[in-house]
Amino acid sequence: MTETPPPPLESLPEDWSTALAIVAHPDDMEFGAAAAVARWTGQGKKVVYCMVTSGEAGIDGMEPDEARRVREAEQIESARIVGVDVVEFLGQHDGIIEYGVPLRRELAAVVRRHRPDIVITGNFRDTWSGTNLNQADHIAVGKAVVDAVRDAGNRWIFPEQLVDGVEKWGGVRAVWAFGSPSAGHAVDTTATFDAGVESLKAHAAYIDGLGWEHWDPREFLEGFGRQAGQRLGVALAAPFEVFPMGWGD
Ligand SMILES: [Zn+2]
Repeated sequence: MTETPPPPLESLPEDWSTALAIVAHPDDMEFGAAAAVARWTGQGKKVVYCMVTSGEAGIDGMEPDEARRVREAEQIESARIVGVDVVEFLGQHDGIIEYGVPLRRELAAVVRRHRPDIVITGNFRDTWSGTNLNQADHIAVGKAVVDAVRDAGNRWIFPEQLVDGVEKWGGVRAVWAFGSPSAGHAVDTTATFDAGVESLKAHAAYIDGLGWEHWDPREFLEGFGRQAGQRLGVALAAPFEVFPMGWGD
């Protein structure tokens, strides 16, 4: 029996200048997208991070109040390593994020404030692949991100936000979800792969708290990077699922 090779991935466009990454937890970007971010900031693009929670429920042996402090600091350092100097924390409760209008409202305000060309989020499909289940916060955030991007462009949705110079923003071209099992695109991360590894390693307390023996961040990222790289025709790549947001040209 011969296995069908996975289909080739298409290169992501790079003719944009600002991206806003909205994810549920500190460490989410570093498990799939940090090397790509390093590439883009290296090209002079501006990338801003927005964390919906501070990941305070992510370390079993650490009380949430301390974990919040530790994880925010780790995220800020992790972002710095890949050229991101703005990291916002929305302060929602880790582990129990609810998809709905309040979350859309909060994220639409973030989109209207930053006015990005591209919005990045994590995989929000039910699984990573096969029966490997995704996590509830990731699904809630990703779904709310695509809705909030559309909300941000409609002046009649959350109109109370449109004061003090804040305007609607309909300029987001696409939402890109990293780690998706349905990825059809990718970006070459061969040259910035090491920065991506260092960015993940910056989550030292979190990784330690996972208690995965002999787990190596580089090895882990390399496995996925090589798979995607093969499908893009390069050594290492980061895959993304693309959701176009405009009405087309
Ligand atoms: Zn997460």
